[in-house]
Amino acid sequence: MVDITSVRKSFGPLEVLKGIDLQVRAGEVTVVIGPSGSGKSTLLRTINHLEKVDQGRISVDGSLVGYRRSGDKLYELPEREILGQRTRIGFVFQNFNLFPHLTVLENIVEAPVHALKRPREDAVAAARRLLDRVGLADKADAYPKQLSGGQQQRVAIARALALEPKLLLFDEPTSALDPELVGEVLDVIKDLAHRGTTMIVVTHEIGFAREVADTVVFMDDGRIVEQGAPGDVLEHPAHERTRAFLAKVL
Ligand code: ATP
Ligand code: MG
Repeated sequence: MVDITSVRKSFGPLEVLKGIDLQVRAGEVTVVIGPSGSGKSTLLRTINHLEKVDQGRISVDGSLVGYRRSGDKLYELPEREILGQRTRIGFVFQNFNLFPHLTVLENIVEAPVHALKRPREDAVAAARRLLDRVGLADKADAYPKQLSGGQQQRVAIARALALEPKLLLFDEPTSALDPELVGEVLDVIKDLAHRGTTMIVVTHEIGFAREVADTVVFMDDGRIVEQGAPGDVLEHPAHERTRAFLAKVL
């Protein structure tokens, strides 16, 4: 489903991704862990072309992200097509990023109606089903500021799901939450995992990784140091850097 090959990315003189290779199979959950500044967010952002790679290539569901191939040359896609690709990849951020002036329901309905041109009644019906799924059926008419952080994040997940993405990316979805609200958000992500949603989740929640991940990826200093089943990477890390990181976060 996701195929990342030899990806490099620099910001000025700072090389942040130093040759990343990663494959994610359909229906699998990949959890990415690693120290601050190791390049986790940058990697997620390259997957939907929020950051352009300097080298290498990324394909999602068989399509090259951000480019079209012609012979042995690559041409960047026009903005409209890049936006089209992005609608098939859901992105949930640390800080929810809900539209503050729209109700919960309108937040969810906005993209299906405007980006996908779905009939409004269909989008509203789908949004209500999604709200029910994330346990917020009674909050459809509330505004984001009237909700707790955990509730806002569950709305953000419902909003991402409304586009029926092939792939969901999560960048530290619980790290802005009070500790007692983390569980309700992780439960929603677990439920998605059980439904076979393909996801890449950057998180420091090692317990969640152990329980839900098919693959755990440890990044450090712009590289994937090791990856494998959670039982291997988390319980029997092969590299000293992984051991040192886990000792700090566990
Ligand atoms: P954290 O756990 O703190 O979120 P991270 O692993 O997500 O860290 P990134 O956000 O990918 O790390 O950043 C990797 C490096 O790239 C950092 O040194 C960061 O300062 C730098 N960086 C990220 N985005 C930019 C940018 N737009 N311009 C310049 N430098 C950037
Ligand atoms: Mg980050």
